[in-house]
Amino acid sequence: MAEKILIVYAHQSAGSFNAAAKDAAVKVLTSQGCKVEVSDLYAMKFKASATAEDVTGTVKDAEHFQYGEETMLAWKEGRLSADITEEHRKLSEAAVVIFQFPMYWFTVPAIMKGWMDRVLTLGFAYTSEKRYSQGIFKDKKAMLSFTTGSHESMFSANGINGDMNVTLWPLQNGILHYCGFQVLAPQIFWAPPHIPSEARCSMLEAWRTRLEGLLGETPLYFTPSDSFDGGRGFQLKEDIQEKHAANKFGLTVGTHLGKPLPPNSQIKAGV
Ligand SMILES: Cc1cc2nc3c(=O)[nH]c(=O)nc-3n(C[C@H](O)[C@H](O)[C@H](O)COP(=O)(O)OP(=O)(O)OC[C@H]3O[C@@H](n4cnc5c(N)ncnc54)[C@H](O)[C@@H]3O)c2cc1C
Repeated sequence: MAEKILIVYAHQSAGSFNAAAKDAAVKVLTSQGCKVEVSDLYAMKFKASATAEDVTGTVKDAEHFQYGEETMLAWKEGRLSADITEEHRKLSEAAVVIFQFPMYWFTVPAIMKGWMDRVLTLGFAYTSEKRYSQGIFKDKKAMLSFTTGSHESMFSANGINGDMNVTLWPLQNGILHYCGFQVLAPQIFWAPPHIPSEARCSMLEAWRTRLEGLLGETPLYFTPSDSFDGGRGFQLKEDIQEKHAANKFGLTVGTHLGKPLPPNSQIKAGV
């Protein structure tokens, strides 16, 4: 059966580099027999704020509205707003989710963060038992595909913005992998507004080539959930710490065992 791909896309302009990257993905993946759906968030005027209006009917506690609890209940009872329910359908059907966006303030634009806040509903996307490598979406893949204003050197370990691996940890580990997704290496288009046209065309060409093999890619490594001890506040188990004691680098950006950050663990598979 044809793989379904969801592209969650946030750019205001059809003439942008992000639009070109999104269009390339639709074209290449469709030509490979995939069924591609695009959630064009600005065109949809997607609501970015997580509020009580996301729930229809009577809320459980109007005095102290708790977004996570109330939306989980509404999800179970079919009382979530129609826009969230429609994104749930797309996400449930998708084998791969691509987030295409321009980096805003070291993260996703607010409208895309709103999609994450509102669509990754408690119960539907995660629970305290079903998360990380035991997560609800563990059979799905997700990836970030984004443009920057900065050049690559500025996001390096010695660069003015700091290490891109650190920048990506909250999105890739704290959101995508938290919900169980196998996270594919990010596609980073460095500084398209500040490079010559030919260099932009080359980046798009490299993206098209990557897309042809995307479904077969190995995901990034994250420390498996069972390496952490729930009885000890989800700390890394002692035997695992001992096993890695002699290694030069830590396990991941988030679990670096007091050692130097492992280079590029958020950017390349198999490092
Ligand atoms: C609020 C805000 C916060 C920001 N925060 C950050 C930050 O934290 N870090 C950071 O690095 N940057 C940041 N930026 C900059 C932002 O990330 C870049 O401006 C953005 O990523 C550029 O992507 P774009 O698609 O908008 O480029 P565009 O400006 O749309 O395009 C770049 C160039 O590509 C051309 N182009 C379009 N289509 C094609 C095609 N098919 N082939 C070849 N060329 C094409 C366009 O004509 C244009 O010349 C921020 C910007 C804003 C507004």
